[in-house]
Amino acid sequence: MIKRLIRRVLRLGDKRSGPLILPLADHGITRARIAPCALKVTRSLREGGFMAFIVGGAVRDLLLDRAPKDFDVATDATPEQVKALFRRARIIGRRFRIVHVYCGAETIEITTFRAGNPQGYEEDEDRVTAEDGLILRDNVFGSQEDDAARRDFTVNALYYDPEKQEVWDWHGGVADARKRILRMIGDPATRYKEDPVRMLRAARFAAKLDFHIDPATRAPIAQLAPLLARIPAARLFDEMMKLLLSGHAERGVHQLRAEGLHHGVLPMLDAILDDPARRGFLHAALHDTDERVRHGQSASPAFMLAGLLWFDMQTQWQRLREAGEPPLAALHAAMDETLERQRQALAFPRRFDGMIKEIWSLQPRFEQRSGARPYRLLSHPRYRAGYDFLLIRARGGDAPQELADWWTGFQDADEHTRAEMLLPATGEGARKRRRRKRRPRQAGMLEAQAG
Ligand code: ATP
Ligand code: MG
Repeated sequence: MIKRLIRRVLRLGDKRSGPLILPLADHGITRARIAPCALKVTRSLREGGFMAFIVGGAVRDLLLDRAPKDFDVATDATPEQVKALFRRARIIGRRFRIVHVYCGAETIEITTFRAGNPQGYEEDEDRVTAEDGLILRDNVFGSQEDDAARRDFTVNALYYDPEKQEVWDWHGGVADARKRILRMIGDPATRYKEDPVRMLRAARFAAKLDFHIDPATRAPIAQLAPLLARIPAARLFDEMMKLLLSGHAERGVHQLRAEGLHHGVLPMLDAILDDPARRGFLHAALHDTDERVRHGQSASPAFMLAGLLWFDMQTQWQRLREAGEPPLAALHAAMDETLERQRQALAFPRRFDGMIKEIWSLQPRFEQRSGARPYRLLSHPRYRAGYDFLLIRARGGDAPQELADWWTGFQDADEHTRAEMLLPATGEGARKRRRRKRRPRQAGMLEAQAG
């Protein structure tokens, strides 16, 4: 308490200039570009006697002429004061308490200005810091200036006042945005030690915004990357999914590896990217996901994980088959082993396992194009995901393009055409049986599973 008072008095003598305040003519962000719900929230806060700004990613994206993903609001009102102003509001979080306000289907996140002292934190019940500088809980409220200083990158510390249509820039974020530079606020190494996830965020934003990481911001990452091991698995997973489902996964994955950040989160990247055959497939998968996201289509974590682990699973499957396990049993064992092994590095929720396994186990069934089997496959609830996966395999050189084209034709054809498309059942089966008799161990890996 006394320490804090002394600090505050000392800070009065600190001749720091205030924010750079830019009028509309300098930034061009009109009020009309802010979501109605966010405008409503800032208006209510102001009418309640508080400060209210749009902050973070939304201001940055608008400045770069991109559509913001969501609108966050920053205020000097405490979470309790915010909650009292809105009928539909909820305080959430413990490590970081914020308020969610709901208008219709929209949610606006309201954060109280927080103090963060880059010179080192004082321990009390509202802020808990571990010995090595990691912030465990951060609920010390402060001024807007404090709030700007505890944010990660200069372009993320911009505040927009919808009433005056002004941008308040505390750390040169507007100039950095124009130069397309991602720059950490404060001493980068200290800021990464406080929260190692900021390293992943650096890679993600550089990829998403197509920014260059400032050399001083980039330099400590190579050495500090192992600190990610201290982050709870669930938070790492969320952060990875943000990167992979951002619409910029292709660039993001390369940025991750370039910074040496993938070891703890996507360890399979080395094996995939160093092998030309696998690289083609991964690029097809990432490219496809990016296109989907950019066109507003769904892109699921399970599909992404199925792609990232596909080769691991196949290698494992082959190993088990060669050890003499029947194909189907080998497949299921390989799927389980692959998922468990990956979970030790990037702990993803078990609820995705079912879909990942379905996508994988449908793949051999696409090879069976005679009799009733193609019809059964078409009516499988996961047919679409399996088919999309097959298309990516074909594009990445992991399955014959002819096979993918056949299914594209078959699924859209009328009954008569479908019947004509079917391959002769007996011939294919007989050929396979003959081949098996001669070379029992060499049947193609994917044609072995029975539908
Ligand atoms: P996105 O477009 O991905 O949502 P964003 O910048 O809005 O980008 P969020 O994760 O939504 O990112 O966080 C909102 C803001 O909170 C950021 O702009 C940044 O100012 C601050 N912030 C978030 N996470 C951190 C962190 N780990 N350390 C410091 N500041 C952070
Ligand atoms: Mg955001």
